[in-house]
Amino acid sequence: MTFALHGIAVSKGIAIGKAVLISRAALEVSHYLIEAGKEEAEANKLLDAFEQVRLELAQLRQGLPKDAPQEMAAFLDVHGMILADPALAEKPLKLIRTQRLNAAWALTTELNDLLEQFSEIEDAYLKERANDIRQVAERVLKALNAQQKDDLGDSDLLSPSDVGVDAIIVAHDIAPHDMLRFKEHAFTGFVTDLGGKTSHTAIVARSMEIPAVVGVRHASEMIRHGDWLVIDGEHGVVVVAPDEQLLAEYRLLQERAIQETRKLQELKHSRTTTVDHVAIELLANIELPEDATQAVDLGAIGVGLFRSEFLFMDRKQALPDEEQQYHEYRRVVDLMHGLPVNIRTIDVGADKALGSGSDLSETGTSPLGLRAIRWSLTEPEIFLTQLRAILRASAYGQARIMIPMLAHVKEIDETLRLIEKAKQQLHQRGQAFNPNIQVGAMIEIPAAALVLPLFINRFDFLSIGTNDLIQYTLAIDRADHAVAHLYDPYHPAILNLLFSIIDQAKRANIPVAVCGEMAGDPSMTKLLLGMGLTDFSMHFSQLLLVKREILSADVGLLKSRIGPVLKAIEPVEQAKALEKLLS
Ligand code: PEP
Ligand code: MG
Repeated sequence: MTFALHGIAVSKGIAIGKAVLISRAALEVSHYLIEAGKEEAEANKLLDAFEQVRLELAQLRQGLPKDAPQEMAAFLDVHGMILADPALAEKPLKLIRTQRLNAAWALTTELNDLLEQFSEIEDAYLKERANDIRQVAERVLKALNAQQKDDLGDSDLLSPSDVGVDAIIVAHDIAPHDMLRFKEHAFTGFVTDLGGKTSHTAIVARSMEIPAVVGVRHASEMIRHGDWLVIDGEHGVVVVAPDEQLLAEYRLLQERAIQETRKLQELKHSRTTTVDHVAIELLANIELPEDATQAVDLGAIGVGLFRSEFLFMDRKQALPDEEQQYHEYRRVVDLMHGLPVNIRTIDVGADKALGSGSDLSETGTSPLGLRAIRWSLTEPEIFLTQLRAILRASAYGQARIMIPMLAHVKEIDETLRLIEKAKQQLHQRGQAFNPNIQVGAMIEIPAAALVLPLFINRFDFLSIGTNDLIQYTLAIDRADHAVAHLYDPYHPAILNLLFSIIDQAKRANIPVAVCGEMAGDPSMTKLLLGMGLTDFSMHFSQLLLVKREILSADVGLLKSRIGPVLKAIEPVEQAKALEKLLS
């Protein structure tokens, strides 16, 4: 039966494919589609892992000391029985053979189904068995992982064009870092139960140029593995089991979108100036160093925001050391061929968890908690390590330091002191760096916006993080779908705050950019131009769309019409003023 689900549109385009449901556990393991013809080899890997665990359990059972508690033997027996039950392997084997899921993924999918069934059981004893099943499955996964380390090369990961059936991920929630890992895999769309428009998961989905809808509440319960889906990333609609006619209509829309994207490519080489000859700078936001290649190709004249924390968020790895970080920053600097690169210092916390590879102080999970620079200042050694790595990269190009989430003068002073200390340390080591490296501040807390001269006097440039500025001004968690309807970039308080920052910065002659999602939203381009903004930093997938708006804009005219937009408090007034601005 065809039905539609509604959520928050975060990444445009139409995706048509089959649902692949993934659980939290599945996100912890590799997930990729195996090549056609390799199904039996993959099935054998799973069977081998089962056999290996069977042997391990038998050895453990045999090696139990005589005085070991009886429960120990009983526990191993139960695990042995669970493992021997053919039902545990049956469904994963089928998923491998029919849907070409890799073995670990197939097993976690089945584990998830089983755990769900157990969660509905009232009987406490039986409920407890769920843990045994989980532990057995985890042993098998461990055995699979060990095998995988031996024989999984990147060549086993397919590119989208190699996959016969397009797969659409459906999950309760996906952490930003997990989302990034999907970059290497062959998926054509994402649907999640949770998430808001500017959650980091949504931002990464957008950066992958893959249609995505988040905040679809019960999607992962209502959609079944293998269901055909259409994702309309423009309108936030997910159609489940579409009929032939609907499919044909969406295929047509998909084709049109592809043609539009092709046409946009023609703008790649034109200059970014308005009709009244105002030059506008378009910069790129990136999460991974390799994104810089596409940014340059699409005409970005620099990296306005490198979210360096994505280097720190792999849950399985220890934090990268100075050498590793330097290598990554240097890579971006080299790829940008002398263009500026704003390396934002680590911004973990809130919806971005830190890797668990070290015994660090915990980051806050609340957006009001220990996040970004607040966290860096509690871990000065890690912060200094990052600063030295950025400084070293600055010897080879225009690497610049950008600090997130500053609000207090004490934080600014301490940050600048540590930058000086990092320079001294490199000096003592005799290592090269640019002593005049530019240091910028993100303006993303209303308090910072309200005392802007503090920042103007102490930094070389400013960058407005509208995602957080909106979150903190309107007091709504940007990652929480329950308040997503209150996330309103057009709120008069936001527009006035934004204008005030841009205006003050321009008057003080300090460069100011917007690097939040607003900058990449073509429907807001003319509004921002009217406020006097000339530097826009966005994900490269949005560059040409925004450029098209700029090419048809008359900044003089927009500026002359911005006053009534800013004055309007009543929605009707605002709508009228905006209509006039855009006419
Ligand atoms: C912002 O807050 O607008 C921003 C660009 O930073 P992030 O989205 O990474 O918090
Ligand atoms: Mg931010």
